[in-house]
Amino acid sequence: MSKDWIKGLSDFLQESPVSYFAIRSIKQRLDAAGFTELKEDAAWTVKPGQCGYVIRNGSSIIAFRLPEGAVDGFHIIAAHSDSPSFKLKPQPVIRSGGAPARLNVEGYGGMIRDSWFDRPLSIAGRVLVDAGETLEQRLVSFDRDLVMIPSLAIHLSRDAQGAERGSGVQKELLPILSEDMDNDAWLRLLAEQAGTEPERILGSDLFLTCRMAPVVWGAKNEFYSAPRLDDLACCYAALEGFLSAETPAQASVYCVFDNEEVGSSSMQGADSNFLAGTTRRLMRALGADEEQYDRAVAGSFLVSADNAHAFHPGYPEKYDPVNRPQMNGGPVLKHQAGLRYTTDAVSAAVFRRLCKQNGIPYQEYVNHSDVRGGSTLGNISTTQLSVRGVDIGLAQLAMHSAYETMGARDVEHLARFAAAFYAAALPEVTLR
Ligand code: ZN
Repeated sequence: MSKDWIKGLSDFLQESPVSYFAIRSIKQRLDAAGFTELKEDAAWTVKPGQCGYVIRNGSSIIAFRLPEGAVDGFHIIAAHSDSPSFKLKPQPVIRSGGAPARLNVEGYGGMIRDSWFDRPLSIAGRVLVDAGETLEQRLVSFDRDLVMIPSLAIHLSRDAQGAERGSGVQKELLPILSEDMDNDAWLRLLAEQAGTEPERILGSDLFLTCRMAPVVWGAKNEFYSAPRLDDLACCYAALEGFLSAETPAQASVYCVFDNEEVGSSSMQGADSNFLAGTTRRLMRALGADEEQYDRAVAGSFLVSADNAHAFHPGYPEKYDPVNRPQMNGGPVLKHQAGLRYTTDAVSAAVFRRLCKQNGIPYQEYVNHSDVRGGSTLGNISTTQLSVRGVDIGLAQLAMHSAYETMGARDVEHLARFAAAFYAAALPEVTLR
């Protein structure tokens, strides 16, 4: 029986309400495949042919599979573990009079705010626990319908078309937690969930999460909707490709960075030294010198995999008149003249050749010339590790909604592309 890609992705999404959980899910899959963890604060012993991974901050990961021979290039696919959400502030419970207690939150990234109203939400993240000798990170996920952000009734709204939206996170987007709860009671609830005592909790990064289960829908079951498709769908598909690829001729690298949605500039983001430092350290541990490292970087290629905008038939004026990606049309190659996407003629040619050789459908995206469009991690990552690369992604609708939509067949397309990319020897390019 062929692989059930949608079941695999759905399991991954539901195991991964926030970045820490996504990294744990990836780690578990790597462990099961025989990869060993290297710690950044310990000495590394690395041998040719080795499979391993490095985790930073519990929210970013770099996995690698080394060739048996000398490393003369890294084949890298990068995606991101975070999604737009709302983060709990310290002492989050706010009470006013006899009204229900709400949780004080602020935005994390740029979300479609409307999509967070009137649907069951939960809370997940990490707490730091004083464990005596150590500070211990514990992942917490309530994994139940816990909070709700209700709309204002239409009858009380100035705008007869709908609720009076847009007055800001602080006023309208604080979720209701309980009919009666204070901060001490909240801390007890959190401690119980984390399996510790309230006084031991010294820190937390907690986020609202959308609880809606993934669904396949459409007259021919051709569509798939779920929370966090941007960018966990790419994390999952690239990981499947990475794990299924044969022992490669070059070093295979699979990275998932946190904090793309807030600019990537954290210590574990794409704008950190995580990728450059890890590749350099691997080479050093293999006995390579600086000259060999620089040559390997020159022979490397980066695929930044972050979702792309599928054509929305209701808004043709927002899209390029020609290059309009369709869901289920295969990986989307993204172009932008200002190089917010890394793709150029050379890297595009490498990508298209690989797709053609492996019978993988692909399509092109470029912004409408007067629409600003988004950005991603490819060009940020290449400022840290300067290698040739493409920006690609899967075509989706409702990007940054709490519940997003993509094609049900595209996960397989990207997984097949990733496997081919890791296995292939890239063509030599002659630039004259
Ligand atoms: Zn993204």
